[in-house]
Amino acid sequence: MNFYVMTLFPDMILSGSSDSIIGRARRNGLISVQAINIRDYTEEKRHGRCDDYPYGGGAGMVMQAQPVCDCCDAVRAMITEAGGDGEHSRLIYLSPQGRRFDQAMAKELSQERDLILLCGHYEGIDERALELCNAEEVSIGDYVLTGGELPALVMIDCISRLKKGVLGGEESALIESFHDNLLEYPQYTRPEIYRGLSVPEILLSGHHENVEKWRRQQSIERTLRRRPDLLKDAVLSKKEEEYLKWIQTQ
Ligand code: SAM
Repeated sequence: MNFYVMTLFPDMILSGSSDSIIGRARRNGLISVQAINIRDYTEEKRHGRCDDYPYGGGAGMVMQAQPVCDCCDAVRAMITEAGGDGEHSRLIYLSPQGRRFDQAMAKELSQERDLILLCGHYEGIDERALELCNAEEVSIGDYVLTGGELPALVMIDCISRLKKGVLGGEESALIESFHDNLLEYPQYTRPEIYRGLSVPEILLSGHHENVEKWRRQQSIERTLRRRPDLLKDAVLSKKEEEYLKWIQTQ
């Protein structure tokens, strides 16, 4: 999968995706991340300016339509040249006003061959550029950041780890939080006793079936206590439904 990130701060994108699991995936050619500097496309070459004052007044600066649109055209052409469908590749504008990013959206986007991510800065981007670039707006949460680079990295990380080969042990992505709309069970590693706290007995039993049952029950209980909103779409067996009803009465 190929990510094309349109940004005023390409180093943030490249350094933020060069270490750990995502860095390894890039080096192994499982994903690619290209950071395209919007500033390279401004017609105001003297100062490389990409922003201007907002019409109607008000605080801050707004990114201009021209460099964003020209950069977008160049990226779409780049994708087509590399064998993709640049014209129809999805372009996501990271924005606090967008649809909320979640695991289901990550799964859906992981099916794309090419994905364009557009990072805003200052007060945002001239609305006409968003229309002309056919941008879908996506938010990573109800708070405001200074730029779209961190949200773009969040999306790249979350989507990439769903691609085959990126995590190594494929099942880890399958049993994590939000799979089946449940949070993950608690995890433990060595030593068996740490500062007087022991690992739950069942995990040392070697009884695979009992361990699985315990983990599912822990997942259900955690989700009930921490994120009850998820439970309405959780995939539970009849026995697990009964367990849920029982813990609700405790
Ligand atoms: N004036 C804009 C508003 O009120 O909607 C906020 C602009 S914000 C200071 C600058 C840029 O940061 C945005 O254009 C967007 O790219 C990015 N950004 C900020 N918060 C974000 C969030 N929660 N999710 C995604 N992108 C965000």
